Formats: sequence, structure tokens, C-alpha cells
Amino acid sequence: MVRVRIAPSPTGAIHIGLARSALYNFLFARQNNGKFILRIEDTDPTRSTKESAEVIMEGFKWLSLYWDEGPYFQSQRFPIYKEYAEKLLKEGKAYYCYCSEERLREEREKALKEKRSWQYDRCCLYLTEREKARLEKEGVPKAVRFLVPSERNVVFNDIIHGRIERNSRDIEDFVILRADGTPTYNFACVIDDALMEISHVIRAVEHISNTFKQILLYEALNFKIPFFAHLPLILGKDGKKLSKRHGAVSIMEYKKMGILPEALVNYLALLGWSPGGDLEIFSLEEAIKLFRLEKVKKSNAIFDFQKLEWMNSEYIKRSDNKRLLEGVKEFLKEKEISYEKEEKLLDIIQLNKDRSRNLCELADNIAIYLKEEISYDKEGIEKYLDKKGRESLGELLAVYEELSVFNKETTEKALRELASEKNKKPAEYIHPLRVALTGKLVGPPIFDVVNLMGKELVIKRIKKVLTFSLESNSENN
Ligand code: GLU
Repeated sequence: MVRVRIAPSPTGAIHIGLARSALYNFLFARQNNGKFILRIEDTDPTRSTKESAEVIMEGFKWLSLYWDEGPYFQSQRFPIYKEYAEKLLKEGKAYYCYCSEERLREEREKALKEKRSWQYDRCCLYLTEREKARLEKEGVPKAVRFLVPSERNVVFNDIIHGRIERNSRDIEDFVILRADGTPTYNFACVIDDALMEISHVIRAVEHISNTFKQILLYEALNFKIPFFAHLPLILGKDGKKLSKRHGAVSIMEYKKMGILPEALVNYLALLGWSPGGDLEIFSLEEAIKLFRLEKVKKSNAIFDFQKLEWMNSEYIKRSDNKRLLEGVKEFLKEKEISYEKEEKLLDIIQLNKDRSRNLCELADNIAIYLKEEISYDKEGIEKYLDKKGRESLGELLAVYEELSVFNKETTEKALRELASEKNKKPAEYIHPLRVALTGKLVGPPIFDVVNLMGKELVIKRIKKVLTFSLESNSENN
């Protein structure tokens, strides 16, 4: 039975790396008919927040990474960790440490200065009973340290990295329970992974050094050791640690930018794995079938925002108009763009989905059809609303005002007839018309635009730029 988990520490936003780990766990669980468990690792009360846990869960839901069990909160399980720490103490596999933070820090800093490595010196392991009694009497705070077995070769077969080993002499007696009674990450993680019967631990590569410690704990507690798979780092295009410079790090920022969750999930899937061949665009359902944990790459993955944006525009192009309407609604609301008929909105979306990289841009493109005022590209005004362009627009206005049936076919026919009558090219009308109607130099086929806007708005917008450019012209004189 496959049981996997995602175990975020709720200390901030839901970042790309966490979402990728969640996705790979999710895919692995689904393709094996297993369970995907959510565990919130909020053992550090100074850094964990409820809000962060909420944001992380909201993010997983937004990405459709629904968990089957949990959320379990480690902060509610402290008695369990204490019980196991006491078991280890009783069996002589752990001991109390009375060393103060200051002493340990000083020792560490001294070693650093002298360029020596430093491990806990086991001074509390060798305390006499009398010394212990004195410290207890004085009420000196005590942590619990795990007694690392000496000269043991700790080995595991990582599903992605293969055999990895480390001698236990390179592992210090690490703290499992702090003086304030809170468990450390390594300890709580092992207890929970064991009690929650996690079969595969799939997590970021930076945890490999923890895995050695954890294996020693599994052994000391007689727990079954799970399989491990350590996922590659995600770096920016410049090979540096992912940061704001490379685009947003938080998943929810991408939501705000108008990235579709299905596009983001697709992109995340490719950060460390590929289905092979040229296949790049696939649904979550397909990913469940295609994903192979053992095919995840060892080498660092590169996060490329432009690629994500490209993928998003591909998803927008391929998405159903109704799906886009659902997604774009909050952006329209934010921009205070109201609409009456959804039918019309669907037509506008159809016309603009090929040229919108995200839902925010799509909303901007929709706004052109619905808002009173639009903005005009400076270049568009200069190039096409000059004297010549305005003259053409004036001629076209006269023709359009007279048109009783105003649709795609009639407006195109009228424009072409006008052009041939005046001995001009149709483009001499079309370009100024596009700038007048949309404010832009490029856009969807112009007669589709004219048709969707309708006679009233088309006439209004042409009139508007005629006065507008006359004004700016007179200013120039
Ligand atoms: N709370 C740890 C983290 O966020 C979990 C690591 C693990 O999956 O074991 O890095």
C-alpha cells in the first residue's frame, strides 16, 4: 500500500518547491491507488502561523492537489513525541543534555574560527550521577539528545540518487526534544512517518543529510524504514537559488497574475521530470498515468518564467470559453468591469483567447469591449491617427452611420467599397479603425471586432478619436 505525504512547515507562502513536492507525491499516490496525506509541521511556535497553514492548504486546493488524509498538525501531537523520547531515554539510546545554548554557540564559533569541524562533545553523556543530581536540583533546563551509534555505516537506496552512505561518526548526537519540550524536525518527522505508515518519503534533496539521522532513529525505535526519493533543486535561469528575481516564488502570486492552475501544475511537473518525447502539455490525469518516480532527474531543475507564461498562453488558447469565463471573473471584478450578458462575454473571450498570455491580459482585452474609456497606444496614434488616417476615418464614419444592417459582412463590404471608390487600399481604413476601436496596433480580425462592439460603440469610438486627434493636432500648431 502506497502512502505518501507532504509535510510543509507553515512559516510563509506556498512556494514553487513545496508545490512541486506536493505534486510528485500526489501523482505517485494516485497512480498507485495509494493515499496522499497532509501533515503540517508546526512544531516551531515562533515561526509557524495558522495563516500560513491556511494559505498552503488553499494553494494545494487551487492546484487540485487534494489530500486523502489530514491535515495532521504536529503541534497537537507533542505527547506522542514525548512518549517516544522517554522510551529512548529508558533504553539508553538517548540522554539528557544540560548544555546551555551559549556554551554550544561559543564552541561552534570557536571551531569555525579555527577552521575545525565541530560536533557535540558528549559532555552530558559522561555526567556522573552526582553531577546530574546537582543540575536537576538547580533546575537547569535539559534537552534530549539521541545517542548516535558509533562507527556505523548508514546506507540507503534512494529511488532517484541510488545508493548513498555516510559513516555515523560524521553525525553528532543531535537533539530530539528541545528544553522547552518541543520535538525537533528529524524526530517528529520519523515518529509521524512511522505512525502514519508512510511507505515512500518523497521530498527535496536538501533533506538528504537529515535522512541519515532519520534512518538511525528508525532503527533505534524498531520502526520500518520507508523508501526515500529526494527531488532535485529548483534554480533560477542564472543557476542561482530561486528568488523573486526569477519571477514570483509564491504560488499564490501566480494566481494573482492570472496563471491557470492547470498550466502551473503542468509546468511544475516538468521541473525535474519529463514524460519523454516532445510531449510537454498534458493534463493532471495524463500526468498520473505518465509519471515515473524513478525517472526523476538528479540534476537541478531550472525555473523559467517565460516558459511558464508560454505554457499558460497555450492553455488559454485550448481552454473552453466557459472555463476561461469562470477564471476571468475575479479579474474583471478587480478592474471594475461590469457586464450584462455572459453570452457576449463568451464571444469576446473566443475572439481574444489567442492573444492573452494570462487571465489578467484577457480581462484587459475584454475591457476594451465593455468599458466607456479605453487607452490608446502612443505609436498607434502617431502612425494611424494622423491627418490622413483621420480623413479616412471621417469617410468611414459617414458610411457606417448610414448602414442599417450592421454586422461583420456588411461592415466589411462597406469598407471595401468605400476604399475602391476613393482609390485607396482597405488597409488605409482598417489600421486607423483598429486604433480607434481598440487603442491598439494589433488585435483580432477587425470586422469581428466591429461586429462584437456593435454600431453604437463603433460610431462613438470613431467620433471620439476624431475630436481627440484634432485637439492634439491643434496643440501641435
Ligand atoms: N517540514 C519539512 C519541510 O518543509 C518537511 C520535510 C520532509 O518532507 O520531511 O522541509
